[in-house]
Amino acid sequence: MNILLIGSGGREHALAWKIRRSPLVKRLAIAPGNPGMSELGEIHDIKVTDVKNLVGLALSIQADLVVVGPEAALAEGIADALARVNIPCFGPSQKAAQLESSKAFTKDFCKRHNIPTADYETFTDEWEAKAFLKSYQPPYIIKADGLAAGKGVAISPDLQDAYAEVEAMFGGRYGAASKTVVIEEFMTGEEASIFAIADGETAMLFGYAQDHKRAFDGDTGPNTGGMGTYSPAPIVTPELLEITKRDILGPTMRGMKAEGVPYKGVLYAGLMVEDGNPRLVEYNARFGDPECQVLMLRLKSDIVPYLLAAATGRLRDLPEPEWHSDAAVCVVFAAQGYPDSPLGGSIIRGAEQDFGPDVSVFHAGTKRLDDGRLAANGGRVLNVCARGKTLQEARDAAYAAIAKIDWPMGFFRTDIGWRAL
Ligand code: ATP
Repeated sequence: MNILLIGSGGREHALAWKIRRSPLVKRLAIAPGNPGMSELGEIHDIKVTDVKNLVGLALSIQADLVVVGPEAALAEGIADALARVNIPCFGPSQKAAQLESSKAFTKDFCKRHNIPTADYETFTDEWEAKAFLKSYQPPYIIKADGLAAGKGVAISPDLQDAYAEVEAMFGGRYGAASKTVVIEEFMTGEEASIFAIADGETAMLFGYAQDHKRAFDGDTGPNTGGMGTYSPAPIVTPELLEITKRDILGPTMRGMKAEGVPYKGVLYAGLMVEDGNPRLVEYNARFGDPECQVLMLRLKSDIVPYLLAAATGRLRDLPEPEWHSDAAVCVVFAAQGYPDSPLGGSIIRGAEQDFGPDVSVFHAGTKRLDDGRLAANGGRVLNVCARGKTLQEARDAAYAAIAKIDWPMGFFRTDIGWRAL
């Protein structure tokens, strides 16, 4: 099989690492990729939003499957463009990707299909939104409707702050993304990320993980794209998975199909869990980054038949995937200054040594200099991941590996997995 993988982050490096292990794969093309992925496949310098050239590449390598990592490519309509040339794509159509790209769409969809989520109202008028706030208790949840790079949610402690947030959103803080605003009831509980893959008809559970969003130890500092993950996570019990499938994923698949927008690809449910009962916080239309990294380490089955079956509507033919009983941990090594203003260009030494069979170092924001050295080129730069019999062992192995990497301009959290330990 020939596969084209789209993306350049740690998520896609982990996907490439797993796809490359499949005996089914003859050719793996990656666009635009990163230096760490060059030994796994052929790298093509095409942006993830350059749909025309990505489709051209898929045609030229006679791709049997295209796997889309990032949401930006989905929002550009890569799946629709590939459907027009009959190439199977693992990823939803632009319309189906609204489950991630429009919070108002998703909330209204949940209401139509009785999917448990926080109560809410949607507004296109600042004064109506402000008047409505008074009907809720603090803290107030105010969300921009569209994609805002993970920053479009405000949690306000009092009405005054909430009014200011509403004003800023309608004032254009997130451009077109905050022309519509959703105000939600505040949910209490613990959060969990559950993954499924979907083929337009059915969804199959595909692992779960716990993320650490804040930049610094003890869940302090600014919000980030994610500083580390672990799996399994004790909060995700077999019962929780069953309830999520029955009350959230199942009705979502049936509802999308009934509304003429069948959903294919990753269905990543962000949940709030209280007393064992999940409510949907949000959907994402792609694997989480860095959640994907620990899922790939734990996945025992060949991933390729699953990606292909999801893209071609045949998930029913496959058994549930098998997972290693081992735990996995991913620690993000980020450039100093991340997330606000990461320092670029510093030299990283020792990231590409052999760390042993249980450790994988996935690249995210790296670049290869002309003299062959590796340099930082982004906020989140390396993902140091390890497997172990227990979470403690996996964590010790990841931190032992990170200690061997010589990069004084980087920082990482030292407490990944603290909640489970
Ligand atoms: P992400 O970066 O995860 O894509 P996002 O911008 O799409 O974020 P959400 O996931 O909807 O936004 O919300 C971000 C965070 O805000 C959630 O992970 C959760 O911690 C908190 N949150 C959102 N909605 C609620 C709610 N109704 N009650 C309590 N907390 C909430």
